[in-house]
Amino acid sequence: MCPPRTLESMRSPEISRRHLVKFGLGAAALAVALPHGTTHAATVQRTSFRNVADLTHVLGTQFPLFPGSAPFRVQQAVVHDKDGYYGNILNYWEHSGTHMDAPVHFAPNGLYVDQLRVENLVVPAAVINITEKVRRDPDAVVTTDDIRGWERRYGRLPDNAAILMASGWGQRAGSVEAFRNTDGSGVMHFPGFGKEAIDFLLTERRISGIGVDTLSLDHGPSTDFAVHYTLLPTNRWGLENLANLESIPPRGATLFVGAPKIASGSGGPTRVMAVW
Ligand SMILES: [Zn+2]
Repeated sequence: MCPPRTLESMRSPEISRRHLVKFGLGAAALAVALPHGTTHAATVQRTSFRNVADLTHVLGTQFPLFPGSAPFRVQQAVVHDKDGYYGNILNYWEHSGTHMDAPVHFAPNGLYVDQLRVENLVVPAAVINITEKVRRDPDAVVTTDDIRGWERRYGRLPDNAAILMASGWGQRAGSVEAFRNTDGSGVMHFPGFGKEAIDFLLTERRISGIGVDTLSLDHGPSTDFAVHYTLLPTNRWGLENLANLESIPPRGATLFVGAPKIASGSGGPTRVMAVW
């Protein structure tokens, strides 16, 4: 899997923090161990840009959710006319809308969303477009061949890249039926990543995470969620329900992943932007 030193460098402050918490050392010890908390500065590859794209869907009560999810609820708390200011109270499942799957979502010892390092949230984007084969087969997955085909055209995947599947599915997000694409026996049909492609990315390349423009990193018919269970325990992240992936270059964009910084979160609605 991932070289141990990479994992170690991705995890070390978090490991020590959890270790301290687990063994009952209090806030003072934490302050010593983590003088800057997780809000530290980090160096990323220098980039200049002229274009920006929003890869985020609008999240509202109508946005398609994975079946069985708690509904997205909005309660108007105060309004201008009556209260002089405006604000809402939200109640939602963390995996709603364009959102982050933090490692802990499928890995008991994985990082919580607030523990992700900023240098793993500002990363090169590699967009693998499988729209053509998805037209023929909605259950199609990103394969190792697709990745190798991308590399033949655009060069080797950059280190720390986010590997993003563009399948054209994002255009269906306005309809729950079209986005889930459920058949008569209740099985969903939409594209995702294949497990062998994830194995390749984890052993042969160095990635920060993956993203899809569908409801799940695994394709619709999956019952074992092999991609989630393979990727997330390595402390890489996943992004689901991305928008507009066709609008950014296959190589050369930088992704800004605005994951929420909520204590012990398993992920959450995320503003994702690309610049190039
Ligand atoms: Zn999720």
